[in-house]
Amino acid sequence: MGADRDVSAQELLTQLDDAIEEMRAFMQGWHRSIVCGKPPGKILTAENAHAAARFGAWSAAHAEAGLVRQPAFQDLIDSHRKVYEQARRLALGVTAGQAIRTVEYDALIGQLSRFYDQSRRLRDAFRKLVSEIDPLTGLHNRQIMTEELDVEYSRGRRTNGPLCIALADIDFFKKVNDTHGHAAGDMVLASVAGRFLAHLRPYDTIYRYGGEEFLLCLPNANTGTANSVLERLRRALESEPIGLPEGRDLPVTASFGLVRVNYDHSLKASIERADQALYAAKQAGRNRVVTWSESLESDQ
Ligand code: GH3
Ligand code: MG
Ligand code: MG
Repeated sequence: MGADRDVSAQELLTQLDDAIEEMRAFMQGWHRSIVCGKPPGKILTAENAHAAARFGAWSAAHAEAGLVRQPAFQDLIDSHRKVYEQARRLALGVTAGQAIRTVEYDALIGQLSRFYDQSRRLRDAFRKLVSEIDPLTGLHNRQIMTEELDVEYSRGRRTNGPLCIALADIDFFKKVNDTHGHAAGDMVLASVAGRFLAHLRPYDTIYRYGGEEFLLCLPNANTGTANSVLERLRRALESEPIGLPEGRDLPVTASFGLVRVNYDHSLKASIERADQALYAAKQAGRNRVVTWSESLESDQ
């Protein structure tokens, strides 16, 4: 049932765009009716027109969704209802032969402006959010990763605090696609992301780096600490197969390449080292964590 389903940021964004457009059409109809002296249609005078409007119906059907329950979104729903109610009251007055007083008209337009301000502000915020999130895994994407890693790198360099970076890559993922299909592969990717996320420390961040690769940023961690975190992630994946539809269970593992960021080098150079360590983990048989060392450099 719709009311039980959670709402994605992308869906909310679509609804906000639609709500703005619907309100524009509604107010155009209202002005047309009042200015040209046409009898207002049902949409302008129905008692519950706001609930019948697409936006009203959608927000009522998803009233329990996390994003819809946010105070900013509740304020928008409130404004939406008030515009419809005030517009209706004035339209009914005109039908009964009463002129609209300036103060009432100004109140309606003020309420309308509030609705537009609120919906546009929310839309801008959600646009930013959606552009930063990978839709398949719900993780931050590579675009926001670059910005956030720069911040961590600068902070670490300033305070000389330890910072570790790791790359994780699912083992034999191509086989998952080849054997079970691309849709099952997508499902596995999303499950792996969720499993990793659940086993990170609160201040660690994970990004979808590309295809079936993830980048992890572990601030305030030396290689010993970071290695324990990654071992935890590795075991969390190895210890329990991933459930596919129709009750199939699929064992999935991943390999990890870890490096402590060296502030004498660029961030890019550290990521390259994490990649070298990941490569070494694959070469050594997969399903393991390898920490970068000088010897890996000479091996390649
Ligand atoms: P290795 O253990 O060496 O990492 O082997 P692998 O098969 O995981 O690595 P390879 O690079 O050969 O294959 C990665 C596969 O991941 C190929 C590509 O089709 C698949 N892939 C990348 N992105 C996605 C995605 O978003 N969805 C799905 N279903 N597959 C993806
Ligand atoms: Mg790969
Ligand atoms: Mg792989």
